[in-house]
Amino acid sequence: MEYRSHIRRDVSLRALNTFGVEARAQMLAEIGSIGQLQGLLSEVEGVPLRVLGGGSNVLLRGDVDGLVLLDRIPGVEVVRREGTAVWVAAGGGLDWHALVEWTLEHGLSGLENLSLIPGTVGAAPIQNIGAYGVELCEVFEALEAVELSTGRCRIFTGEECAFGYRDSIFKRSEKGRWFITRVVLRLSSEPRLNLSYGALQETLREMGVQRPTPRDVSRAVIRIRRSKLPDPARLGNAGSFFKNPELPAETFRTLQRRHPDLPGYPLPDGRVKVPAAWLIERAGWKGRREGAVGCHERQPLVIVHFGGGTGEAIWHFARQVQRSVEERFGIRLVPEVNVW
Ligand code: FAD
Ligand code: NAP
Repeated sequence: MEYRSHIRRDVSLRALNTFGVEARAQMLAEIGSIGQLQGLLSEVEGVPLRVLGGGSNVLLRGDVDGLVLLDRIPGVEVVRREGTAVWVAAGGGLDWHALVEWTLEHGLSGLENLSLIPGTVGAAPIQNIGAYGVELCEVFEALEAVELSTGRCRIFTGEECAFGYRDSIFKRSEKGRWFITRVVLRLSSEPRLNLSYGALQETLREMGVQRPTPRDVSRAVIRIRRSKLPDPARLGNAGSFFKNPELPAETFRTLQRRHPDLPGYPLPDGRVKVPAAWLIERAGWKGRREGAVGCHERQPLVIVHFGGGTGEAIWHFARQVQRSVEERFGIRLVPEVNVW
């Protein structure tokens, strides 16, 4: 079989990135199975390769040379049960929220706080997705990935993924080297709820829920997200553009003396997490627009593309926000979005 015949040439990526910017891939192939991926890899030696899921965490600054591999590997199944623990394996190309829905329909708890995060299952470990007090690493068991340079298959345990805040080994030493084909999660048939985020408790109260189920928590998360975050189908964006900075306690105290209303959330390691959105708002960027790009009016950490702009213009705008926060607070924001 000739796998190269699966390759399309000079393909627009506009519909494949949630910023909705135009950029062209020199070559693109949809991958539906490990066999197909390994076959294709053996025929494209020397070609630069990139992996794309739902395009909800990338900024395309320009056209992409080489071959873009779209993870479309499907499937979800229970692979093991032990007491109340249930292990679920899902294909890397499955839509993340479809997986969350599937687990809720099967009476499983663990993913409810991660409802409505755009993108695919295969991308979830890359930045250890997190929201409303829960991170992927808390339910992660293992993943299976194919090395792009050799086609060899390997299993990574949670420890080997070295997860951190919006971080993993796949954003550091193993960056760009693997295609994640399958992820295994350890969920629970009994509710294991995390209601630590104030907004979640408030919304459940507004919904009149006294003893929440995982489904109630999912509904509450969806309600908050819909009210606060722009829908990429209507307004181009990639979620939070920058990570929330984690500061040494002393740096935080010094800053707080100058800005007494600076919010801070203490971390187990003694550092303090500061909302980047607060810094950006205080630097004057909330709701500010320059041409086709701006900071969202309700959540300024989200950089939005109003249409007709370029990836380069978004990058230029983001750099201005970054510089301005650094000048005002001495904190250098680090992009969370993957810049191509
Ligand atoms: P892509 O954007 O396609 O890719 C992201 C990176 O992962 C790229 O570097 C790509 O090369 C790599 N990659 C993708 N798939 C694979 C694979 N199978 N194997 C190897 N590498 C791969 N993130 C959060 O953590 N929490 C949130 O609450 C959250 N909310 C968001 C809200 C909105 C409105 C938007 C637009 C984004 C949000 N995000 C959030 C960011 C984004 O949804 C996640 O990072 C998501 O996991 C990205 O998935 P994706 O498939 O779109 O990845
Ligand atoms: P938010 O709830 O207004 O919170 C703003 C900031 O405060 C975030 O830095 C959040 O940290 C932190 N925070 C709030 N309550 C906290 C608590 N009880 N303990 C520790 N930290 C707390 O933020 P939001 O923008 O509306 O987003 C809600 C959730 O969805 C957040 O978890 C956020 O990370 C996630 N989200 C992520 C993206 C993305 O693209 N990455 C996009 C939208 C929403 P954390 O960010 O560490 O949670």
